[in-house]
Amino acid sequence: MIPPDECLSPHLGVAQRDHVRLVWWRFYQTFERVRVMEWTCACRSTVYELCEGGGRAFIRRIVQLENDHQVHETHRWSIAEARANWTNLLSGKAR
Ligand SMILES: [Zn+2]
Repeated sequence: MIPPDECLSPHLGVAQRDHVRLVWWRFYQTFERVRVMEWTCACRSTVYELCEGGGRAFIRRIVQLENDHQVHETHRWSIAEARANWTNLLSGKAR
């Protein structure tokens, strides 16, 4: 395990008691071009990515299991909306 002071990417804050519950959909392969704009630190078992493509954006959640990983994604939002949700996710206001 990497010591915390070597982490370069953000970690999620603790979920607040009244946090917004995001809807997570099972990932299915699409052919849209997606760029990962921001991501959380991979030292945690769950990694989140802010993805943009085709003028829309969404958050991807990757749960790293021992021999596999589970991928879920949110709705496609406008980029401004997705960035607001991303900020809320990092601060614990959404999960
Ligand atoms: Zn870390």
